[in-house]
Amino acid sequence: MPTLRDLPSIDTLLHGSGELEAQYGHERTVAALRAAVDEARAAVRDGAAVPAAEALVAQAAAGLHAESEPTLRPVINATGVIIHTNLGRAPLSDDALDAIRAVGGGYSTLEYDLEPGTRGKRDRHAERLLAEVTGAEAAMVVNNNAAGVLLALSALVQGREAIISRGQLVEIGGAFRIPDVMAQSGAIMVEVGATNRTRLRDYEAALTERTAAIVQAHPSNYRIVGFTESVPLPDLVALAHAHDLIVIEDVGSGALIDPALFGLASEPLVQDSLAAGADLVLFSGDKLLGGPQAGLIAGRSDLIARLKQHPLARAVRADKLCLAGLVATLEHYRRGDALDCIPVWRMIALPLETIRTRADAWAAAIPGEIVPAESTVGGGSLPGETLPTWAFAPRVDQPNAAAARLRQHTPPVIARVAQDRLLLDPRTVFPEQDALVLDALKALA
Ligand SMILES: *Cc1c(COP(=O)(O)O)cnc(C)c1O
Repeated sequence: MPTLRDLPSIDTLLHGSGELEAQYGHERTVAALRAAVDEARAAVRDGAAVPAAEALVAQAAAGLHAESEPTLRPVINATGVIIHTNLGRAPLSDDALDAIRAVGGGYSTLEYDLEPGTRGKRDRHAERLLAEVTGAEAAMVVNNNAAGVLLALSALVQGREAIISRGQLVEIGGAFRIPDVMAQSGAIMVEVGATNRTRLRDYEAALTERTAAIVQAHPSNYRIVGFTESVPLPDLVALAHAHDLIVIEDVGSGALIDPALFGLASEPLVQDSLAAGADLVLFSGDKLLGGPQAGLIAGRSDLIARLKQHPLARAVRADKLCLAGLVATLEHYRRGDALDCIPVWRMIALPLETIRTRADAWAAAIPGEIVPAESTVGGGSLPGETLPTWAFAPRVDQPNAAAARLRQHTPPVIARVAQDRLLLDPRTVFPEQDALVLDALKALA
């Protein structure tokens, strides 16, 4: 019978751990050895054999190595969710990455005007381009869309009333709830209508001399179906403008290209909202726009000017890396190569045959089968909408355990388990990552 007394002491193990001590220091090494011995002690009590000293040192080394990995690191997204909020939303285009590298690795004209050699404005870099591609009179960039909504309500509605439909009191996730943001901004929220139906006369009846705005929030991540009614934007605009009020629309995803081109439902397009007369349209930079995290605000120049003068503007301003990446992303829309160059759109537009060819190549290297499945756009856009795809289902005994092992691989591969099968969707895996995916799958065997 193995006994606990046969377990080596920490001192004994330290003799074989010189390299670990040199790399990680005495205290961390001792702690890791102790953790390995504690684990072995529990296993021995349950009847396991006493592990060799080398095995315990190896386990401590693995633990030390794992805990010194950065917590923020690249992963391979094989989930088929294109804008995966937990996996960092939109991957950037090559041009955006080049621009970030060029600006981030040195000095730049962030707030410098080359000709006179004096102080310039950081505002000028992205805003003209943003106005151009959306058709807006003016534009502004902040840190994220939540900040944009907070700023707009604070600057334009604070202390006055904003009317919003009960069907739009959404929670986006990450603790962003429209009613809470309204409260934080000091705007007084006036809810109208019912969850499923709101009519123009509901808004009309709520107008008072304290009303400052009508707010529209796109219920990005859910859909109410059945007996529903909402007011078309042009009608809201007509009502608001007849009373000298403004319409602020939070469209969320910020699509400039209609997903309906690819068999999905339509998302509200920023340029359509502006053309319909919305006074300010707010959206994210890192959802369907496919750029860096940012809050983009497009609309009337007098309103944008008021936002810029508000004290919060400084607290929510975008940094130089964001601006560099954003300008390069917006250039794709201006040039008309967004579908080819912006990863989010390239993945949405990926032909089914191309996905099938990739899945076939995986299946040629690893035992398993190819199954029809569904990719989703994600990022709180297009709820319930899917794109047909071909997923690879490697032959594994325990799909959940295999998925966990893929996550432990370097680099981690994030797959999903559905219908008791491990599924990997080529749509969200970059072609240059195929070899890494196969390595990770081979390591499962
Ligand atoms: C995603 C979303 C937000 C939050 O945007 P962030 O850029 O994540 O701050 C706000 N409103 C709507 C409607 C959204 O879809």
